[in-house]
Amino acid sequence: MVNILDTDIKFLQGVGPKRAELLLKELGISTFRDMLYTFPYRYADRSKFYSISEIDSSNVYIQIRGKITKIAIVGEKRGRRLVANFTDGTGYIELVFFQGIKWMQEKLKIGPEYIVFGKPSIFNQGYNLVHPEVDLATSEVPGMAGVMIGIYSSTEKLRGGGIGNKVFSKLQATLLTLVIDKMEETLPEYIISIKQMCSIQYALQNIHFPTDVQALDRAQRRLKFEELFYLQLSLLKQKSIRSRNSSGVLFKKIGNSFNMTYSHLPFPLTGAQKRVLKEIRTDVVSGRQMNRLLQGDVGSGKTLVAILSALMAVDNGYQACIMAPTEVLANQHYNGVYKFIEGTGVKVALLTGNTKTKERKEIHAGLEDGTINIIFGTHALIEDTVQFKNLGLAVIDEQHRFGVDQRSKLWSKSQIAPHILVMTATPIPRTLAMTLYGDLDVSVIDELPPGRKPIKTVHWTENNRGMMYQFLKKEIKAGRQVFIVYPLIKESEKMDYKNLEDGYMAITEEFPAPEYVTAVVHGQQKAENKAYDMDLFAKGRAHILVATSVIEVGVDIPNASVMVIESAERFGLSQLHQLRGRVGRGADNSYCILMTGYKLSSESRQRIELMCSTSDGFELAEADLKMRGPGDFEGTRQSGLAVELHIANLGTDTHILEEARNLGNVILEKDPLLESHENAILERQLGNMRVEMKDYSKIS
Ligand code: ADP
Ligand code: MG
Repeated sequence: MVNILDTDIKFLQGVGPKRAELLLKELGISTFRDMLYTFPYRYADRSKFYSISEIDSSNVYIQIRGKITKIAIVGEKRGRRLVANFTDGTGYIELVFFQGIKWMQEKLKIGPEYIVFGKPSIFNQGYNLVHPEVDLATSEVPGMAGVMIGIYSSTEKLRGGGIGNKVFSKLQATLLTLVIDKMEETLPEYIISIKQMCSIQYALQNIHFPTDVQALDRAQRRLKFEELFYLQLSLLKQKSIRSRNSSGVLFKKIGNSFNMTYSHLPFPLTGAQKRVLKEIRTDVVSGRQMNRLLQGDVGSGKTLVAILSALMAVDNGYQACIMAPTEVLANQHYNGVYKFIEGTGVKVALLTGNTKTKERKEIHAGLEDGTINIIFGTHALIEDTVQFKNLGLAVIDEQHRFGVDQRSKLWSKSQIAPHILVMTATPIPRTLAMTLYGDLDVSVIDELPPGRKPIKTVHWTENNRGMMYQFLKKEIKAGRQVFIVYPLIKESEKMDYKNLEDGYMAITEEFPAPEYVTAVVHGQQKAENKAYDMDLFAKGRAHILVATSVIEVGVDIPNASVMVIESAERFGLSQLHQLRGRVGRGADNSYCILMTGYKLSSESRQRIELMCSTSDGFELAEADLKMRGPGDFEGTRQSGLAVELHIANLGTDTHILEEARNLGNVILEKDPLLESHENAILERQLGNMRVEMKDYSKIS
């Protein structure tokens, strides 16, 4: 059966091929459904009239009623515009049109009363309205009977192509009239009734043209719930199918290598590490495949948990791989493992993009015949040429750098899908975790090893630079090492950010050799040089490491006590937090100095202040999500959130999300494959969603 919502948008009255192209390009709208599900991002109250004298801010939509006193075309070329002087008796404001000048000139008359709707912008110390909507006070505004008018996101090109907010609304009105009666309900009757929700018709009508605030509220509630519900249902269903179908590798016994390592640890495990190991242990004896996300702040000891888990595999005759996002990290993991597993006879190896051909061949062979027990490495591990004898566990460190596809590639490396442990040091707020990793179980290490002193964080500006250098010298004199991190290398010249190259010069001038040794690490370097400099610093032979954010993840140098972050305003909160986590690993006092310009946007200031006030990664992550929204949340896309949310907001709709997830769980418990008659709608909607997800994967 053909669904009317699948109709090409060009067939909607008022659209046509040209506008259709524009809608697709600017807003991604290609069908009636896309259009209908493009919701206003805010609403303006059209019941209220402003007087011109009370306009005191730009950025809000206002409505005024009055008359035009003068119309003129001014300016030339691109500045050519039609200006109408408008007054309501309390003051004057200019209505300005750059486009459709001729048409507006014919339409606008001096004398009659108009209703003008638009967003004031600041111009010559006063306000004007650029491209406002102008209607005769007597005329009905089509499709806008309600007092609230939806404001849709728009672009320059759309407006230029004649699709301003008013036209867009009108198209929505036309579309609604056409399809609303033919729309099928998209949620089962029983859900609508338990959740006391409005019908889909009501919701769509009122999300575009709310009759009043309450109606809008009901519409939003339903649509947000529905969106989050289907997302959760889809994730939960995948999870339940997988756990039913996949038989997991069994790590029945706790053997020699685990026990030996465990009993020789140089320190006791933290309570959180023990708890997580138990959770993992439960998974690997369950007979089902483990898919677990391990979240833990930087330095919380995730790597050790990974190693101990790998030893569980080894003791049961299986291989394990531990995959890191960067060469530096893979190296560090590999070099760090020896001190733990000494004497166990477990054979480990390292495979990265830089492994020489001969060695690579040997490693490939060792993995195939099973002589290598644990392999560390980078993306090189998921290349097709890598085959295991019997991979039992795959650990992926810093998940946000790996896509879902890459994760699943690991599965094909063994007859039985290996257990998967994904580790991330970017704490992800609960709501986001439930969505990004809704198909995983989540463990959290929420405790740092004892004896770590909090990192003192300060915010300094250029004025403090001299003081900062003095401070670094003092620390270096006391035998410590320092990081200095820059946002990017080769920043566009127009921007006045310090780039790493300038920074490096300045640093070597301020800290001259041979008294000071400065190492440098960045993304554009040859691997050997990078490894060399990194090593210099890691071995304590360099005092200073100048770097880009490549050192963000994982690097463990206990003797480093200061992290200076240049142009700190350019980093996101979670990235700042990651960077800060590079210090504070030894027993000494450690410091994080956030350097910024003197002037900061209020948002940047907020971020920097938050960094100075808390060291709790989860608190920062929650704040980051609220401030920036999930779209910007670091790595959201790469992590494979396959659907774009139209209306729900992961930062603020936490309750609705939990409600949706709970309902999803209840439904799947009773009807795991959604086969019952009453759940037929659910299965159908999930089918639609899958189409959407597939399309998405093509784009990204
Ligand atoms: P993460 O990977 O979570 O950032 P690591 O596993 O690299 O953290 O651990 C950071 C440092 O803490 C390492 O030097 C590690 O040996 C040490 N460590 C791990 N667990 C403990 C513990 N229970 N007690 C003391 N130190 C620990
Ligand atoms: Mg780590």
